[in-house]
Amino acid sequence: MTTSHTDHKIGPPLWLLAELTYRCPLQCPYCSNPLDYASQEQELSTQQWLDVLQQGRALGAAQLGFSGGEPLVRQDLPELIGGARELGYYTNLITSGLGLTETKVKAFADAGLDHIQVSFQASDPELNNAVAGSRKAFQQKLAMARAVKEAGYPMVLNFVIHRHNIHQMTDILALCENLGADYVELATCQYYGWAFANREGLMPSRAQLAEAETRVNRYRAELVERDHPMKVIFVTPDYYEERPKACMNGWGSLFLTVAPDGTALPCHSARLLPIEFPNVTQASLEDIWYRSPGFNHYRGDGWMPEPCRSCDEKDKDFGGCRCQAYLLTGNADNADPVCAKSPQHDRILAARTAADHATAGLEDLTYRNARNSRVFCRS
Ligand code: SF4
Ligand code: SF4
Repeated sequence: MTTSHTDHKIGPPLWLLAELTYRCPLQCPYCSNPLDYASQEQELSTQQWLDVLQQGRALGAAQLGFSGGEPLVRQDLPELIGGARELGYYTNLITSGLGLTETKVKAFADAGLDHIQVSFQASDPELNNAVAGSRKAFQQKLAMARAVKEAGYPMVLNFVIHRHNIHQMTDILALCENLGADYVELATCQYYGWAFANREGLMPSRAQLAEAETRVNRYRAELVERDHPMKVIFVTPDYYEERPKACMNGWGSLFLTVAPDGTALPCHSARLLPIEFPNVTQASLEDIWYRSPGFNHYRGDGWMPEPCRSCDEKDKDFGGCRCQAYLLTGNADNADPVCAKSPQHDRILAARTAADHATAGLEDLTYRNARNSRVFCRS
């Protein structure tokens, strides 16, 4: 690998996320895909993806996620999985389960897939299907979760948690236990993309969150008592913290995302930032990672304004999330307003107050579909 004198401190990308497509049969109102995804129909070809995987591995990436949209709509998925296996990646398929069949689950295992994560919207068919915008989703997810387990994969179930399903924690965990899940990820909604557009209708109140935490901790304690191996990860929402997360472990530090059209991003949300990001069809992944202005934009701490610049915690959180700073303050250079030291922390406090008084129902949310996306394209 050739590196210039300016890039000697930059480590290699260890995680590669291949967003194969923005197409998806579901309509989750918290989807992290761009609001204007309907105007971005371009997708890399099979050969271009295989080339990206090869370049990523040569740079040092060891973990590979296939996501979307719904990656199963790509008919070349088995070929991509096989290519990734030959290159020596540890591979993870992140799927809604829609479009999956028992035959495909087995075929992917034969092609070398290591891991499948199936996402659910709720613990019961009514709520699950209402949030997903599909009448068939829940039954299909149940069947596919069972097929994944039967095929011998470690079973990871993911639930995005918001104010409409946060009361279901106990039922969700019971469902996961019943399905034989090895890991459960209860990921409280993070407000980017569609979730930011729907924030008022999705954000739980502090009281809801506290109740949910109590239930999760109680269930965890019961699992320990019963010597049950299921592991539960509860990702609490940034909006109820006083310090931001170390977003992506630092900009351009470990994670490299490639969007369906080949745009390379330091995280899957970064496309919303007013920064020009490079494309794998125009530059090598090595150039993109080490030398592109987009990937170097927020590396290090030279870009930081106050209060981050002189803060003794800047090595811990790198000033938080650039997307959150941009969405909440209009300037991605600012400290993440989640931080209580940020002069714009009042925006987080206002969102918390709004969540305490929110009355929006599921029918008030803007669902992620092509029709709604075209409205965002025009605006
Ligand atoms: S979050 Fe929902 S709508 Fe978005 S890609 Fe995943 S399953 Fe599809
Ligand atoms: S001021 Fe900036 S660096 Fe300091 S804790 Fe807050 S976000 Fe992190």
